[in-house]
Amino acid sequence: KQDDDRDKDKADRATSEQVLDQRTRMILLQMINRGVVSEVHGAISTGKEANVYGAVSHDDETGVATQRAIKVYKTAILVFKDRERYITGEHRFKGGFDKGNSRKMVKLWAEKEYRNLRRIYNAGIPCPEPLALKLHVLVMGFLGDRKGWAYPRLRDANLKGDDVDQQWQNLYVQLLGTMRRMYQICRLVHADLSEYNILYHNGKLYIIDVSQSVEPDHPRSLEFLRMDIKNVGDFFRRKGVDTLPDRAIFNFITVPAGPVEEPAMGEAIAKLYETRQAATNEEEAAAEEVDTEVFRNQYIPQTLEQVYDIEKDVKRLGLGEGNELVYSKLLADQVVAAPNGGEKNKVDEEESEDESGEGASLGG
Ligand code: ADP
Ligand code: MG
Repeated sequence: KQDDDRDKDKADRATSEQVLDQRTRMILLQMINRGVVSEVHGAISTGKEANVYGAVSHDDETGVATQRAIKVYKTAILVFKDRERYITGEHRFKGGFDKGNSRKMVKLWAEKEYRNLRRIYNAGIPCPEPLALKLHVLVMGFLGDRKGWAYPRLRDANLKGDDVDQQWQNLYVQLLGTMRRMYQICRLVHADLSEYNILYHNGKLYIIDVSQSVEPDHPRSLEFLRMDIKNVGDFFRRKGVDTLPDRAIFNFITVPAGPVEEPAMGEAIAKLYETRQAATNEEEAAAEEVDTEVFRNQYIPQTLEQVYDIEKDVKRLGLGEGNELVYSKLLADQVVAAPNGGEKNKVDEEESEDESGEGASLGG
């Protein structure tokens, strides 16, 4: 009885700063009872879509305390509406997306983050270790020091020493390698990669926030990858890093042939720099800039709505429209314009059903 009260207190501490709903409190309490964690602390981060709390897990036998992080997805419906684009076309979530049930949606996001983290962690890429999942609550390894301070986001990293420029350059190259490994080994495009979703410690970059990451066969994965490459490039350029052209990085990440381990991968990137060095006269530099611009416009549509709905897009392509779509070529192979102005999908029934996440629900 006394223990129960103490556990309740521990759960209450997490709720004192940020009001958690009853269900979330019950899950945290259950996790404490089962020893997944033994204390839940205050919020490390309060975000639009999720809060992240610090926690501690005590090993009963050794008495060793280990820090944990708990990500609690919020069930606010408005936020998650926007996220459908990541789920639609994702074969791992064929059931689709029930807009009317925010509880199921947040569960889906937590599950996605957990599974993606597991892949990334298993590939040996620095990231939080996924430890437990219950509905919309995800327990993972804590990335921070022993006092409970989380590592800074890359954005806030304070590099020290007289070779700071070189350190930034190294981090850039490290990140390109990580992106390639994520793509080739984990089969994932982060899809929200930026200096905000990378933590920095001691020369190492840790990838976080992967609930929206998609597989390469997602209809918009290349577009998301383009966005990631641009965000990463923009950030490192602001830090004075001599960055590679977006197209060269895109190819480096997506081409199957080639190394995925160091030091060979770093050497491959050095080669990219050498190749580029050959083109240093002004004219060629200008041409490179134009090429990057063309490349960006190819992959980033003017409005996201334009490619929001794959079924609509297939129809438009059937009518000879939609050439600006990143996957127009991909879809074009599957579309045959019917004489009555309608169109027919060549892929078999079963597959085309899978593509239409719209209207489907998770059941229940
Ligand atoms: P959001 O969806 O709110 O952006 P993130 O996964 O990016 O959620 O986490 C928000 C913040 O919480 C991060 O910027 C980081 O400061 C902190 N954080 C997240 N996961 C961990 C972790 N495993 N260890 C330490 N801090 C973390
Ligand atoms: Mg984030």
